[in-house]
Amino acid sequence: MTHFKELFLLTGSNIEPRLDYLEKAELHIAERIGSIVKSSSIFESEPWGFTDGGAFLNKVLRVETELTADEVLSIILDIEKVAGRQRTTNQYSSRTLDIDILYFGDEIIKSDRLLVPHPRLQERRFTLMPLAEIAADFIHPVLKATNAELLHAINDDSKVWSFKAEKL
Ligand code: ADP
Ligand code: MG
Repeated sequence: MTHFKELFLLTGSNIEPRLDYLEKAELHIAERIGSIVKSSSIFESEPWGFTDGGAFLNKVLRVETELTADEVLSIILDIEKVAGRQRTTNQYSSRTLDIDILYFGDEIIKSDRLLVPHPRLQERRFTLMPLAEIAADFIHPVLKATNAELLHAINDDSKVWSFKAEKL
């Protein structure tokens, strides 16, 4: 019997064409990681932790994968590279495409290259808004609270709003 893991990914971009980067990410994810069984709407927010960049678009995807978390990480790093991301020395900087693993089922992973659940998801409104939209009742395996509860308790007053793509 095939065993699927329930994987939650956050995609983000703050360099135009932002929507194209998010769409390209989804094509690669569906092809290389697993089926996207649910996806949030798109949220826009001011850059978090730095000020010299454009606004971010973010989206959360629920993916069914047969891969290990480590395999998923290698693939998302490759997808980021293929999408043209230039890594800088600044931790918080503009990026064409960022993909983070938020949850990997209820697994708790602490290795040199991977921390899951993502260690800052409960501090970030731009992560919890799309996450709670598609998985309000999913329980954080360390904090033992649902995404909806984490969003309610968040101490982050940065602005996050629904993104409406301009129709041509
Ligand atoms: P950030 O997304 O925090 O701005 P980067 O995308 O530049 O940072 O960092 C990517 C690195 O973070 C990866 O090389 C990976 O080893 C590490 N990492 C640790 N935990 C995670 C996670 N849950 N999801 C994605 N990358 C992670
Ligand atoms: Mg990242």
